[in-house]
Amino acid sequence: MHGEYSRVDSSPFKLPYLSSSSIPVKKVGINRPHSGGVGQRPSDAWSHDDERAESGYAFMLSEEGREMEDVVIVGAGIAGLATAVALKRVGVEALVLEKSDGLRTSGAGLNLFPNAWFALDALGISHKLTSLYAPCKRGYITNIDTGKTEEVSFTKMGRTEVSQELRGVHRHVLLESLAEELPKDAFRFSSRISSIVTQPQGSSSIVVLHMEDGTKIKTKALIGCDGVHSVVARWLGLSAPVSSGRWAARGLATFPEGHRFNYEFQQFITADKRAGFVPLNDKELYWFLFCKSTSCKGKDMRGNTELIQREVIESLAGDLPQVFSIIVQHSDLSTLSWAPVVFRFPWDMVFRNVSQGNITVAGDAMHPMIPYLGQNECLALEDAVVLGQQFGDLIIREKGVLTREVAGALRRYAQQRRWRAAGVMTCSYLSSIEGSGWLRKFLRDMVFNRLLLRRYINNVIHFDCGKLPCISSNMTELENERNTYHQVPISIEEMEVRTNI
Ligand SMILES: Cc1cc2nc3c(=O)[nH]c(=O)nc-3n(C[C@H](O)[C@H](O)[C@H](O)COP(=O)(O)OP(=O)(O)OC[C@H]3O[C@@H](n4cnc5c(N)ncnc54)[C@H](O)[C@@H]3O)c2cc1C
Repeated sequence: MHGEYSRVDSSPFKLPYLSSSSIPVKKVGINRPHSGGVGQRPSDAWSHDDERAESGYAFMLSEEGREMEDVVIVGAGIAGLATAVALKRVGVEALVLEKSDGLRTSGAGLNLFPNAWFALDALGISHKLTSLYAPCKRGYITNIDTGKTEEVSFTKMGRTEVSQELRGVHRHVLLESLAEELPKDAFRFSSRISSIVTQPQGSSSIVVLHMEDGTKIKTKALIGCDGVHSVVARWLGLSAPVSSGRWAARGLATFPEGHRFNYEFQQFITADKRAGFVPLNDKELYWFLFCKSTSCKGKDMRGNTELIQREVIESLAGDLPQVFSIIVQHSDLSTLSWAPVVFRFPWDMVFRNVSQGNITVAGDAMHPMIPYLGQNECLALEDAVVLGQQFGDLIIREKGVLTREVAGALRRYAQQRRWRAAGVMTCSYLSSIEGSGWLRKFLRDMVFNRLLLRRYINNVIHFDCGKLPCISSNMTELENERNTYHQVPISIEEMEVRTNI
């Protein structure tokens, strides 16, 4: 949905550049004491004789002497980092490949709804962010054409008070908070895949990644977190994302003396655009504006931040409340972006492969959506936790990541996520319908606004993806009961709604 972000990333968080060949040490599972290195035998603590026999791979090394990763994650965005953190917490070290030469910390802000905070709690990093960002307990959605304003509570699910709220956060702070949880050698930057090949191994298979620099990486599991133009999604046969005909402008506004807005989410809707803002702290606000490309006179403003600001103020925000233009006027130009909005149709989640063998996708690679509901990043965090739960289950049952067990774990992950993703993608699509034709009006006003909006609020943004299993370092004890990492209890009525959307 975001296409290629045009701003040059000015990452203050650049991990040391590691070329594929400069990493001498193989990681096969966290807490696994081993000297590693090509040709060296890792500790037996996590070895599985049966798998070795099945694979014919002495000590998990390939016949070419290359290392075998337990899990490779493609993409160090929010989905990739959150997945690596989730796996680390259940005792699996993943290798994260990122095509850029550092974390892509550019971008402005993200709206993290309650479902994202449940996931961040499970990942053990929510405390880092809640101390920085104040909660928004409610939001206001104003239809500029009708003049109607609707209040949305983020702290109530039906009549029940819930513990999580919406908070706007800086995108770079979330990325860095996740990256801090991972060892530096978990990353390989400037690493781009050129092809993905599966190689039979006994009754199962392994994945061989051919990198653009000519090297190969073998892994038992591959998780594509490589964003909207995912090569892993393409390999799985998911359809290419389609253009929504809309563009997204985003930025951070800074008021050095304080902005004095309440901690509330504000959104404005017109026939052909949607805009809004949310305070991040006392001095900064995150703003966004989505509009049809025709209303931008076909200008390609990518990379030209002064033009983005001018066009938003002088043209695009012309029919919005003046406060929006004032906020955009206070933008830190370095944070402005302008990107095309692309999405995938929800039926792909239902009818196509979200996982195949030991390969799957997460985040925007799986469910690129029109971002009107602000759920892209929230679902990415949920995906990460569910992957962690599935791998945690493997560790508990098998005491390690066994090639022959990975496909089952990824299949269960895909089963859990496909309906959830399809439901949110559908809501997202319906909410974005614009225009005044009867069918459009019927779908938007009757189906989405009347039937789904309340359910959406209750069941999409308040969804709790559950906890990660706690695994002790010697992996013999399970500190949490397995069933504690499943969903919070829900009523039969809610259960129906959850399965439906
Ligand atoms: C630079 C950037 C800025 C953004 N800014 C905002 C914002 O301000 N507000 C907002 O709401 N959303 C923003 N987004 C989108 C938002 O981060 C995502 O929609 C959401 O968080 C889901 O994240 P993701 O990890 O699935 O995808 P992404 O955030 O897109 O991350 C995908 C990662 O995979 C890497 N990658 C892609 N292809 C390959 C490959 N072949 N090999 C290796 N690595 C690869 C990319 O470089 C990127 O780091 C931004 C995305 C990016 C990439």
